[in-house]
Amino acid sequence: MSTPLERMADFDLTEDQRAVRAAVREFAEKEILPHVEAHEREARYPTELIQKLVPLGYFAPMVPEEYGGSFIDTMSYGLICEELARVDWVVASVVSVGNSLLAKSILRFGSDAQKDRWLPAIARGEILSSACLTEPGGGTDLGNMQSTATRVEGGWRLNGTKVFISHAAHAGLFFVVASIDRERKHKGVTAFLVDPKTTEGIQIGEFPMRTLQRDNLAEVHFQDAFVPDDGLLGEPGGGFPVLGAALEMGRFSVAMRCIGQAQRCLDLAIPYAMEREAFGKKIGEFQMIQKMIADMVARTEQARAVAYRLGRMLDADVGRASLESSLAKLVASEAATQNALDAVQVHGGYGLSAEYEVGRLVLEAKALEFGEGTSELHRKLIAEFALGVRKQ
Ligand SMILES: Cc1cc2nc3c(=O)[nH]c(=O)nc-3n(C[C@H](O)[C@H](O)[C@H](O)COP(=O)(O)OP(=O)(O)OC[C@H]3O[C@@H](n4cnc5c(N)ncnc54)[C@H](O)[C@@H]3O)c2cc1C
Repeated sequence: MSTPLERMADFDLTEDQRAVRAAVREFAEKEILPHVEAHEREARYPTELIQKLVPLGYFAPMVPEEYGGSFIDTMSYGLICEELARVDWVVASVVSVGNSLLAKSILRFGSDAQKDRWLPAIARGEILSSACLTEPGGGTDLGNMQSTATRVEGGWRLNGTKVFISHAAHAGLFFVVASIDRERKHKGVTAFLVDPKTTEGIQIGEFPMRTLQRDNLAEVHFQDAFVPDDGLLGEPGGGFPVLGAALEMGRFSVAMRCIGQAQRCLDLAIPYAMEREAFGKKIGEFQMIQKMIADMVARTEQARAVAYRLGRMLDADVGRASLESSLAKLVASEAATQNALDAVQVHGGYGLSAEYEVGRLVLEAKALEFGEGTSELHRKLIAEFALGVRKQ
């Protein structure tokens, strides 16, 4: 029998979607969660855990069966992201980047040859994917990117540096954006599919962070890296529409990951509040602790309301959902960060001790406020829609 909170979270899901959530949660808690702290301490990338997703169909749920994937509805895919993120940022990110940014973009904009080349390999779990968008000069103003793609016989030469690139050292496929004409700003931006293992002129370097030590981020240098014509995704100068569609889907999966993290904070804070005592009472009996718990529930459910609706809209194929994806990403990512801060507060000083998981979640949640667009970018986009100066 489900608790009132579980009933609320699951209320408007179908039976199948509830079953997906339950199965992924059981798997994630049993197979992934016990290893995450050790991976973080040892700065180890969770390669073996990622491979466990493949036979269960959690690795490539957006890849159609004709390419060997385990295709399911978008909402269920979001639930996979939510439940994986509830236990591990990195494993959830692999699924989110590989499906939302790469597989979906190839399905939407790729040629038949590109689909045949990449999608079966993604589906079999043979290759992980990275999206190379952000540059040292900035990640928000992508229309002003410095990386260039120069036309040469039979293809393009890429030059430039990308930073903060998740999974880059482990990936077998890069989604890269570069400009074919920097004067044309966003109209010069062009998307490419690049094989980092066989392309000469790509160097992958370390990108040290204060969080996510699990060997996750890298910087990527392109020095006259040759990409053949069949690596072009979409049209020359047509990278922005490709990016827009990819990021919309990416914002959905990141929002769902944020909900997973927000939920995890609640799952950790509630038992602690019911166990820890001060002044002869359980701290959960103090109203100020109860306020934090209530706010955490409210934020998590607000995030579910907007993100689940977005998932259903994407399943209904309503066309572009830029406003809704910005809203979901904004609300869910800020909920995750605030829940992590509150969960630490409930734990008192132990919240920051190595003994408890909750302190790690603060920076991991904060990191989700940056990927797929910052809160400021999303507020800007939402305001522009509200003011009528942006139509899509
Ligand atoms: C853990 C992690 C993983 C990541 N993974 C990837 C990845 O796999 N691939 C990838 O390409 N990138 C990745 N990123 C990078 C991320 O996408 C960027 O950090 C993000 O897009 C912001 O870019 P920036 O950090 O250069 O900030 P900037 O663009 O320099 O912005 C700095 C500040 O100014 C604000 N700002 C900018 N423009 C405006 C405006 N018009 N109005 C108001 N405020 C504004 C921003 O919101 C921000 O607060 C990752 C980042 C992190 C932290």
